[in-house]
Amino acid sequence: MSTRSLFRFVSWTVKPDREPDAAPVTHLYRCTSEDEAGNVCGAESARTEDGASAEDWALRHAAENPDHRSYAYAPELPYVATTPELFGGHPEPEGAA
Ligand SMILES: [Zn+2]
Repeated sequence: MSTRSLFRFVSWTVKPDREPDAAPVTHLYRCTSEDEAGNVCGAESARTEDGASAEDWALRHAAENPDHRSYAYAPELPYVATTPELFGGHPEPEGAA
């Protein structure tokens, strides 16, 4: 007796999730400045939906630590994986996210 599984190859895509219930876009800055020994500071702003307040954190951090001038900006955007084949080639039905 054997067990067989049949897998169907389906074309998936990921796209920005613009549905009303999608997660919000958020913003974060991380200090990537290094000291003389090569240790990265790593201090981070809070992750926030308010990009200006995240940027304010970086400006305050630089003002308080004048040698810390390198930052990584890390926005987070909601994406959704989808495939038209799951719905017979038609657009996704309402609420099928
Ligand atoms: Zn720093």
